Amino acid sequence: MKEFDLIDRYFNRRSQNRDGVVLGIGDDSALLKPPANTYLAVSTDTLVEGIHFTPDIPAKDLGYRSLAVSLSDMAAMGAEAAWVMLSLNLPEVQPVWLEDFSDGFFELMDKYDLQLVGGNTTSGPLSVTTHVTGFIPPEMEIKRSGARPGDLIYVTGTLGDAALALYLMKQQESVSSYLLSRYHRPTPRVETGLFLRAKANAMIDISDGLAGDLNHILEQSHVGAKIWVEKLPLSTEMKETVQRLTGSLSLAFELALAGGDDYELCFTISPSNEAEYLKNHPGCTCIGVVESVPGLKLTCQDQPFVLKKWGYQHFD
Ligand code: ADP
Ligand code: MG
Repeated sequence: MKEFDLIDRYFNRRSQNRDGVVLGIGDDSALLKPPANTYLAVSTDTLVEGIHFTPDIPAKDLGYRSLAVSLSDMAAMGAEAAWVMLSLNLPEVQPVWLEDFSDGFFELMDKYDLQLVGGNTTSGPLSVTTHVTGFIPPEMEIKRSGARPGDLIYVTGTLGDAALALYLMKQQESVSSYLLSRYHRPTPRVETGLFLRAKANAMIDISDGLAGDLNHILEQSHVGAKIWVEKLPLSTEMKETVQRLTGSLSLAFELALAGGDDYELCFTISPSNEAEYLKNHPGCTCIGVVESVPGLKLTCQDQPFVLKKWGYQHFD
């Protein structure tokens, strides 16, 4: 199959027409018209086989995941995603694989009414790059640098599930479908990101582990924080599996703090009405507080908690 046929068959035919797309797929570049008086938020992510996903990931999940990680970045900024570019490095053209990949990819495209406006297709070792452009009204963005002493620290969802799935795979233990889907199909917290506009002071999405990612907020905001480890949200599945395998919850806390691939949001918010509301907001958990003294302190039931490894880093 020629490159153009491939693009037409699996990617072009499914693109809708969104406002602002003057020219979509098919020319040397797309032409886009942003709405008046908005910032464009742009973000790109590459997933490489063997680094960001295992070779056995179903193509449909890979399609879904490739977009999910970029939508998570948009959410973490408070931006509303609109236009997407997709660059594929494929070792070979396999119609069934491409069909499945594009099904997973467009499942999330359609859910959020996004338009694919271009990309690139080459042969090479399997990798997928997504580039997303979104909108945000000026001064509504939620940066990493806005945390203030006294802010409460929240996270969405549950932490460590994806890292536990990966851990179990490496140990050649069986992995439940729940844990596997938490790893293969992370849920970008799009609605929460938009809801937190003009409410949260700082936000980041957790891709490399809570401790390391929260540290980016702390450093850029010139503050410190205390985390109550016993409050970290753990799924029932996480608690049961780790208890069964190790007889305690330590591993669960380690994975929640330092495991990657969660794609949950971590944000700080002043203890105002919103914070009170969020305390009872299903899906958000208060896990700590921002302090003026730099550094991240971890306690579990008021005792210091020592974390051995601080999350994932490339080139380590
Ligand atoms: P050029 O050689 O000018 O860079 P290409 O021949 O690579 O253009 O691509 C032709 C058109 O198809 C361009 O509009 C490009 O954005 C689009 N395109 C290429 N690959 C993809 C893809 N995987 N998904 C969506 N659009 C793509
Ligand atoms: Mg060209």
